Amino acid sequence: MTQTRFDYAGRVARLQSEMSEQSVDVVLLSAGSDLPYFSGYEAVPLERLTMLVVPTDGDCTLFVPALESARVEEGPFEIVPWEETEDPIRMVARVAGPTRRAAIGDHTWSAFLVGLQAEMPNTTWTVASTLTKALRMRKDPAEIESLRDAAAAVDRVMARVPLEVRFSGRSEREIARDFAEMTVAEGHDTAWAPIVASGPNGASPHHEPGDRVVEEGDLVVCDFGGRVSGYHSDTTRTVVVGEPSARQTEVHGLVMAANEAARASVVPGVTCQDVDRAARQVIVEGGFGSQFIHRTGHGIGLEIHEHPYIVEGNDLSLEQGMAFSIEPGIYLPGEFGVRIEDIVACGREGVDDLNRSERNLVRVS
Ligand code: ZN
Ligand code: ZN
Ligand code: ZN
Repeated sequence: MTQTRFDYAGRVARLQSEMSEQSVDVVLLSAGSDLPYFSGYEAVPLERLTMLVVPTDGDCTLFVPALESARVEEGPFEIVPWEETEDPIRMVARVAGPTRRAAIGDHTWSAFLVGLQAEMPNTTWTVASTLTKALRMRKDPAEIESLRDAAAAVDRVMARVPLEVRFSGRSEREIARDFAEMTVAEGHDTAWAPIVASGPNGASPHHEPGDRVVEEGDLVVCDFGGRVSGYHSDTTRTVVVGEPSARQTEVHGLVMAANEAARASVVPGVTCQDVDRAARQVIVEGGFGSQFIHRTGHGIGLEIHEHPYIVEGNDLSLEQGMAFSIEPGIYLPGEFGVRIEDIVACGREGVDDLNRSERNLVRVS
């Protein structure tokens, strides 16, 4: 799919000025999300090298295996297809030139880096995220709209769930399959493996759906999403099968209040840890502080988890365009778990809620 609405040339220009600031002479990007962010091209992560060479000024060069070159669409780079008998590492090193400091994509295979280090013995190396993280954290309006579309699609799934998905008497694995199918049916290109964690399994935040058969009275943590045109969705709702107990209602209400408090705290200038504290304070005051066992959220974009992380110790200030999850939870081993997760963006004057599906405890059958 062509993604012409993204301004790749502008992104490369911003990367180049960041490079000058940090005295990096060349950036080398292979598999991973930095490559599509700057070029629109996603590499097949194989033993054959794909690499974008970004100099401090002037044009970029994209080295691709000749057999992949037909997949490459036009972008702010010159394409150099390499043949099976050529040595792409040597070709990249030649174009990179004699460099003092190079940055290489965080997800580039070490086999390629070791080869490049042998070809470029006088170069010191850093990871590309030291340059790209600041750019990728601040989403432009087209990216926010992509995230909004993805969020709206999973919200449509959630609206269908109480009407169409039977929980009682079925295994977590079967229910997870329903979520994945609906996620694609509502407009995602792909769905990632949903988490469906029922009853006591809900106490494990990343529980893998298994053979447990859902029973009347269970809380079920449903965490799912997918990818549309490169951008991700990620949402969690906790539903109850039949009537909730007083304790389930209390814990769910507390998590909902924590989610609300954290979303309400989002505004430019507030730090990431302040957002975490806003959620945590509600849960601590409710008496479940030690059962909220993970950070409040993570950035989202071309990757499901990326910067900024909403966690104690992160004093980065929010800026307009940053997008991330707010996902407080309470996990009670042997009993149940509750998590409520929304993707939000930091707007000019406050929170921009991308997910809007029902947060109250929804009853399913
Ligand atoms: Zn998670
Ligand atoms: Zn998440
Ligand atoms: Zn999630």
